[in-house]
Amino acid sequence: MNREWLEKDFYKELGISSSATQDEVKKAYRKLARDLHPDKNPGDVKAEERFKAVSEAHSVLSDPEKRKEYDEARRLFASGGFGRGGFAPSGGYGGTGGFSGAEFNLGDIFGGATAGTGPDGGLGDILGGLFNRGGGARASSRPRRGSDVETETTLGFREAAQGVTVPLRMTSPSPCTTCHGSGAKPGTSPRVCPHCNGTGVISRNQGAFGFSEPCDDCRGTGSIIDDPCVDCRGTGIQNRTRTITVRIPPGVRDGQRIRLAGQGEAGLRGAPPGDLYVTVHVSGDKVFGRNGDDLTLVLPVSYSELVLGTTVSVPTLDGRVGVKVPPGTADGRTLRVRGRGVPKRGGGAGDLLVTVKVAIPQKLDDNATEALRRYAEAEKTSGFDPRAGWAGA
Ligand SMILES: [Zn+2]
Ligand SMILES: [Zn+2]
Repeated sequence: MNREWLEKDFYKELGISSSATQDEVKKAYRKLARDLHPDKNPGDVKAEERFKAVSEAHSVLSDPEKRKEYDEARRLFASGGFGRGGFAPSGGYGGTGGFSGAEFNLGDIFGGATAGTGPDGGLGDILGGLFNRGGGARASSRPRRGSDVETETTLGFREAAQGVTVPLRMTSPSPCTTCHGSGAKPGTSPRVCPHCNGTGVISRNQGAFGFSEPCDDCRGTGSIIDDPCVDCRGTGIQNRTRTITVRIPPGVRDGQRIRLAGQGEAGLRGAPPGDLYVTVHVSGDKVFGRNGDDLTLVLPVSYSELVLGTTVSVPTLDGRVGVKVPPGTADGRTLRVRGRGVPKRGGGAGDLLVTVKVAIPQKLDDNATEALRRYAEAEKTSGFDPRAGWAGA
């Protein structure tokens, strides 16, 4: 039932846009209500159903307060923030940062309910809070999950390509070691909040709707601590500096965000921790560039090496390799050395792409200059014309 509410488009029901003014809402409703009224359409089941739907839409949209909540819930629902079985498709969310914000908003609006901790959990909870007909809030006192933590690190080009283990030093809240995160003085334990019966939410009824808000007595946690732990003042959390060792997989790219599950902030009073996101910056390299899993490299060669062919020793991420430049290789051509690029996640590696680039001598001794002149003559005699077939000739 609740899910249906969210999936309903009240604007469409009234035939208005989501930016319609309150006046337009009223007008649209009046017209439809007149046309669809059961007195006017006796025995017409369809009209009756439409009439009900229109009334329902009006009851929400005509109340600015309810309309705001409805809009907000729909916006979040549309953005996929809820009910999709929780957090983090491991590549991050393109850095909009919208999601954790959304989680907090909901936590604040709807009390102890934590969005997105289980299949359907978040969705049920917001709706439970939003449109709980006739009161009687759903019992929902799950403790709040710890926040996600963002950090970044800079890796050398070769470290990033080959994978590396790096220490990350972070100051963040962790479970209090004295009370093990319960927030209660050792030897005591929190008791169930009598005001909200441990649900963390208080419901109040307003017309046809029941609304839930966080319980003031327990601040939405559902439990009350009579003797707070002195070390954490009852929060169950202590700030601690910790160094965690993070294994960065090979092939990571500049700007990539890596998720480390459960390495974020501790949850309040024993709730599960959040995740840690590490944004990796990769510094450049003097020799190598990258194109996906391929490693690129520019190899300086002489004109004669391209004409006559040669084998040149080039560096790779793992030792050197001899690259054969066939006779008659054109300047700027790229030669491929298979499997000597960046390691791939699923095994194997990309290729090493070697682009040849002619280096022109700025100064030659008499001997070489004389030889080159003689060569130029011989080249002409041989019939080579560099501009043969050139469109500009
Ligand atoms: Zn403590
Ligand atoms: Zn309470």
